[in-house]
Amino acid sequence: MANWLASARLLARTGGRQHRFSITHQLHSGVSVLRTQTCGALRASNIGEKVTLCGWVDSVRDHGGGVFIDLRDRYGKTQVVAAPPGSEAAIEAAKKARAEDVLQIQGVVAARPAETVKPKLATGEIEVRCESLKVLNRSKTPPFQPGQTDLPGEDLRLKHRYLDLRREPMLRTLELRSRIVKGMRDYFEANDFIDIETPILGRSTPEGARDYLVPSRVHRCSFYALPQSPQLYKQILMVAGYDRYVQVARCFRDEDLRADRQPEFTQLDMEMSFVEMDDVVGMIDGLVVKLAKDILGLEVSLPLPRMTYDEAMRRFGHDAPDLRFGMELVDCTDLAKQTEFRVFRETADGGGFVRGIRVPNGTSTYSRRGLDSLTDWVRQDFCARGLAWFRIEEDGTLFSPIAKNFEQPVLDAIKERMGAEPGDLLLFIADSWEVSCKALAGLRKRIGAEMKMYDPAEMNFSWVTEFPMFEWDDEEHRWVAMHHPFTAPRPQDLELLDSDPKACRAIAYDLVINGSEAGGGTIRIHDSEIQSKVFGLLGIDEQTAKDRFGFLLDALQFGAPPHGGIALGIDRFVMLFGKLDSIRDCIAFPKTQRATDLMTGAPNLVDGRQLNELNIAVTAPPKTENNE
Ligand code: ASP
Repeated sequence: MANWLASARLLARTGGRQHRFSITHQLHSGVSVLRTQTCGALRASNIGEKVTLCGWVDSVRDHGGGVFIDLRDRYGKTQVVAAPPGSEAAIEAAKKARAEDVLQIQGVVAARPAETVKPKLATGEIEVRCESLKVLNRSKTPPFQPGQTDLPGEDLRLKHRYLDLRREPMLRTLELRSRIVKGMRDYFEANDFIDIETPILGRSTPEGARDYLVPSRVHRCSFYALPQSPQLYKQILMVAGYDRYVQVARCFRDEDLRADRQPEFTQLDMEMSFVEMDDVVGMIDGLVVKLAKDILGLEVSLPLPRMTYDEAMRRFGHDAPDLRFGMELVDCTDLAKQTEFRVFRETADGGGFVRGIRVPNGTSTYSRRGLDSLTDWVRQDFCARGLAWFRIEEDGTLFSPIAKNFEQPVLDAIKERMGAEPGDLLLFIADSWEVSCKALAGLRKRIGAEMKMYDPAEMNFSWVTEFPMFEWDDEEHRWVAMHHPFTAPRPQDLELLDSDPKACRAIAYDLVINGSEAGGGTIRIHDSEIQSKVFGLLGIDEQTAKDRFGFLLDALQFGAPPHGGIALGIDRFVMLFGKLDSIRDCIAFPKTQRATDLMTGAPNLVDGRQLNELNIAVTAPPKTENNE
């Protein structure tokens, strides 16, 4: 190592013309023709060496006697000093340096005076006495400084993403992302998976989210679609005998964006043949153990906890429950039937549910006003009719404005069922199953965070299985696939396809990390008859199925092995492993919540000629602020 480093330095000093090849092979150390080290490399052991550094001006301090520049690159910062008796020209040039200029400096590594040593900085023991300074590129005054402590507005950061990406947290996140993706690739390679790319220009199969369409110039009136996922291709690969496929795949979905969604996102997509659910889940368990260990230094023990969808909804009101804390939902519908309190009794008698959560010590956090604001919140965000609450007083009695409507034995029974202790708060939602799930899951999540019920450093991994095959789409008045139409029903539920589709459960599994869905997959239908039946239930008639997925249905008749797989959301993984709040911070060039790229200005109006070539006529004026 030392030898080639020395020769690379020599080459760098001599211009490196003869052996450029050997230098490009050593770029990982930061050595190149233009620099001998990176700005994070120098230590006390380098004192006395002559070095050449390149980087951005992080800060300049002119102390009269000398100019101090913190030179920054991806690897760190090095203090450069231009002061007498050094070169006059270098001092003059240093005085003119401005934030974010790109400099090349040559100098000698020296020990910092004891009082200026910075033990926290990797290069804090040394400084480089500048002998010459060359401006490689001047920077205009940046709209924000990458090193500034107060975070600039997000629009500004996205518009000048090249400056934002210079910020240390962004750099760390992209490094983390790179390590996660590499960890995934290594793992699957070690397990005999083949990395296969699938097309970006594909066929529109409008089932699930809206497709992004790409007009074909050659085939007038025809469109390609960007893939929502490589689902059909990976199934075809199984039919083709590639029994372990993996891909880091970009997916595109033209959906109205929620806070943690992006119109294009990246999945770790995999598929396996001759497997059952336990094989796929077991393969991902192994990946989770490896990533948790390699990236976070955490020991995760296997098997990961599993719970069915029905259990998750019953206990947590959510299909991706955060298991870092308890506060489970408790059903009191039977007790509600015994009260005089109209809202409870009518809901319970009318087939609704009265369920609640016990907030341990909640009375110390939520005052009357706090409870009012929780009530407004569940009304607004989850369309709940209201929120009923009880405070457990010191003497164990239940206090609530509605308590007078309850007989004492019912109050006692509620208290016992909820396991309530003095100081606790009991919160109840009386509503339909769906609303009570959503509102209570929302309250649980919010209160869990507000009351710091878990250690934010903890990572909790679990599986949710046996999702319903179908959910009812109220707008379209039809069944839609909860995962996708190629998902296999549990063998014991096959009959339910005819008799009770709502009750039919799929061989489906979601990986949940800290209350977020981090991935999902299923065992697929590999029998064309069952596939046709499922299409039928989804309202996709034979002709439509043939038109849209004929190639898959054909393939299923040419020797399809039993197969299944999963896709993990890489952006989501980075967010969870990095403990980040925004998905946009996990992507180098993300879109805003309105699906725009503020740096490039995409999407943009295109020239009429381009449209003519594609035979496209625009039928509405462009959207502006005024005609949304
Ligand atoms: N293609 C599916 C998705 O994107 C994942 C899978 O079933 O493997 O959700």
